Amino acid sequence: MTAATATIDTAAIDALVGDGPATWDATGRIPLDLLRGLGASGVLAAEVPTRFGGPGAGRLVNGELTAHVGARCSSLRSIMTVQGIAATTVLRFGDRDQRRHYLGRLTGGDLACVAFSEPGAGSDLGGIATRVRPAGAGTGDLLISGEKSWITGAVYADHILVFGRFGDGPDGAVAVVPADAPGVHVEPVRDPLGCRAATHSRVVLDDVRLPAEAILGGGGQALQLLFTVALSYGRMSVAWGCAGILRACLAAATADARTREQNGARIGDHQLIARHLAEIYTAERIATQVCRHAVDRWDAGAPDAAVTAVLAKQVAATHAARGASAAVQVLASRGFTDGHVVARAYRDAKAMELIEGSTEISQLILARHALDTI
Ligand SMILES: Cc1cc2nc3c(=O)[nH]c(=O)nc-3n(C[C@H](O)[C@H](O)[C@H](O)COP(=O)(O)OP(=O)(O)OC[C@H]3O[C@@H](n4cnc5c(N)ncnc54)[C@H](O)[C@@H]3O)c2cc1C
Repeated sequence: MTAATATIDTAAIDALVGDGPATWDATGRIPLDLLRGLGASGVLAAEVPTRFGGPGAGRLVNGELTAHVGARCSSLRSIMTVQGIAATTVLRFGDRDQRRHYLGRLTGGDLACVAFSEPGAGSDLGGIATRVRPAGAGTGDLLISGEKSWITGAVYADHILVFGRFGDGPDGAVAVVPADAPGVHVEPVRDPLGCRAATHSRVVLDDVRLPAEAILGGGGQALQLLFTVALSYGRMSVAWGCAGILRACLAAATADARTREQNGARIGDHQLIARHLAEIYTAERIATQVCRHAVDRWDAGAPDAAVTAVLAKQVAATHAARGASAAVQVLASRGFTDGHVVARAYRDAKAMELIEGSTEISQLILARHALDTI
């Protein structure tokens, strides 16, 4: 345990996770009681303040915790990421009663997922068509309709945080939709390339009726603000998860390179394999440092904090994808079966280049920042 994770018992997490990730990857499911247990212990949303029942971890502690989990299982880390995004969104946009109610649930074993993407709005979230509108007849209730794509963890979730448009105007709203409400349909995507046990689903909302208290802060916030707050947490979390992927790859590749002998020498002593090891090591150090940089900027309340989250995700994801590929190269046939840690890393890391803003979208944001500020 590093100093940064001193307040979270990572040994207890390791004991719970055990050698489950390979099986979870094969079956496409993490045991629900394990997820609920981790949720109730606060691990899935560790930054929730103690006054709302969470551990109240700082960003660095939560980041290192996320890397620790990410090194073991990107699917579990993905569930952690969406639970953390949900908690952050409630904390930022919920009123007093909503914070107390929902954060209590999210640190008490309930699970949440977050629904932004739609068939017609992936990279361009400004194009979302899901709408939250009054149910009419003076009831104060609201109706929400729309279709969401690739929603991580929806099959486990008790609450679906749905990002939509509010009324007929341009502004947004976040509705906390009970997953078992009439009109909610969850259809898992079959055979995803990576993060298989996190699960990803199409979620259809067919005139789902909600009380006004289910709309965070009453709705009417700027869509861009809603997305920036939610995605910034997600980007940091994914970036730390990528540092974890690289740590797992480095451990597996060095262990193999130390013991496997070919052509009269340990493979780690062949210079071309040594180069792969050096690259994975460098990638892990870079990913960790860019995450720490982002944490420092957020903790300082710096004006470029949101951009540093994009930078962290962008750098860590591209290094994780390359590093995982190099790790498979080092282990060769020994790492080339589905459940193996480097095989999972190879598939899971690719997803990191697509989510929370793809590599291309991240580059556009970083270029705009450079043009505007430098
Ligand atoms: C494993 C996984 C988990 C996910 N989990 C969730 C979740 O929990 N909740 C959720 O809401 N969504 C989730 N998503 C959806 C994810 O956010 C979207 O897949 C992502 O935003 C990209 O959208 P898209 O797939 O529609 O690709 P598109 O937007 O169609 O993009 C296709 C390609 O075009 C590029 N592109 C698009 N616009 C531009 C541009 N202006 N300039 C240059 N290139 C561009 C993209 O970078 C990409 O390479 C998940 C997706 C995956 C794969």
